Amino acid sequence: MKDCNCIFCKIADGKIPSAKVYEDDRMLVFKDIEPKAKVHLLAIGKDHFKLLSEMDSERAELLSYMFSKIPQIAEQNGCKNGYRLVINQGDDAGQTVFHLHIHILGGEQLPW
Ligand code: 5GP
Ligand code: ZN
Repeated sequence: MKDCNCIFCKIADGKIPSAKVYEDDRMLVFKDIEPKAKVHLLAIGKDHFKLLSEMDSERAELLSYMFSKIPQIAEQNGCKNGYRLVINQGDDAGQTVFHLHIHILGGEQLPW
């Protein structure tokens, strides 16, 4: 992660500022800079990997940990009435940052 030229690694390292709402030794959740819903958070692991296709057991464990934390983080940040999780994968999905991340969208009734 230290030598990684990746914007989300730099955010995780504190080299680029972000509006953090949760952090521990394994993951970080911060506000999306261009929110697509009233609440739009991004959850990232502190270990860099690009795509679900690069999954191994360690990364699967990290994702499992992140999913276990997300419900409480979402509820504490304006998503008491529900939220949507999105993981864009690749160009057709419009993925722009190739550090796996989970979008947390809510705070309002979302259009499909
Ligand atoms: P993707 O399109 O890869 O699924 O999502 C990338 C997301 O990262 C986009 O919603 C975009 O607004 C957000 N983003 C890109 N650069 C930054 C940044 O420097 N800071 C924050 N907080 N969000 C960013
Ligand atoms: Zn990264």
